[in-house]
Amino acid sequence: MAPSERPYAVAEAIAPKVRRVLARNPSPFTYTGTQTYLVGDGRDVAVIDPGPAEAEHLEAIVAALGAARLAAICCTHTHRDHSPAAAPLAARTGAPVIGCAPLTLEDDGPRADAAFDPDYRPDRVLADGESLRGDGWTLTALATPGHTSNHLCFALEETGALFTGDHVMGWSTSVVSPPDGDMSAYLESLIRLYERKQDTIYFPAHGPAVENPHQLVRGMLGHRRSRERQIQRQIEAGNTRVETMVPAMYKGVDERLWPAAGRSVLAHLIDLERRALVLRAGEEWRLVAAS
Ligand SMILES: [Zn+2]
Repeated sequence: MAPSERPYAVAEAIAPKVRRVLARNPSPFTYTGTQTYLVGDGRDVAVIDPGPAEAEHLEAIVAALGAARLAAICCTHTHRDHSPAAAPLAARTGAPVIGCAPLTLEDDGPRADAAFDPDYRPDRVLADGESLRGDGWTLTALATPGHTSNHLCFALEETGALFTGDHVMGWSTSVVSPPDGDMSAYLESLIRLYERKQDTIYFPAHGPAVENPHQLVRGMLGHRRSRERQIQRQIEAGNTRVETMVPAMYKGVDERLWPAAGRSVLAHLIDLERRALVLRAGEEWRLVAAS
């Protein structure tokens, strides 16, 4: 969609009980921008991923509330394109911030993707399986660590919609950047979604709704397995460093995404190391010989 046609700063009704407001923060990592969802069409609503703290976006969310009370501001995780508007929106409306845990990293490593929001202060953290109820809606938190360790998805029980944050998106694979990003956890969280049969549609924080969620997740699991084999073949061929694997593996991909791709390759290597399939020696990786 051409930038001039993107629906920035307007609330669009996209599904029963679901409206979407697109924030004007497009980038190679955010696609057309962060999508803030409003859930509920009765006396009160919940907001999922309030997005960046930009005045235009905040005003659009507040306008979309109309006469309804804002019951909860929910964040899937605390990357800077997701949670910074929580505090100003809470100050404007008096609504509590409820959802993912805060995350403070001692050493967050080189950040190839959006950095973390250090100012996120939830009033209440939702544990896996805990629900929030409003007028005609129930949102249940689903712990889905991997993209970040504090990532939650939210299931709208009444309709089968799942708000997937950055865990599963239709337009791109999710960046998994160690040390907080964890490929082993990410794959387990993908399998977790695959095994849920009640989800009929995904609403990711970036990009279009996913109407064939199980097919997409199955494809993503296959994609990760083929990346893993590709990495093993690179090492086998003597290409043993992440910085030289990326140009070989991501030929034809926008070079601005290569640093992030390097983080995902490293995440795969750490996962393979845990499974005793590769060994690290400084910046070099080698295969563990089959016994
Ligand atoms: Zn993110």
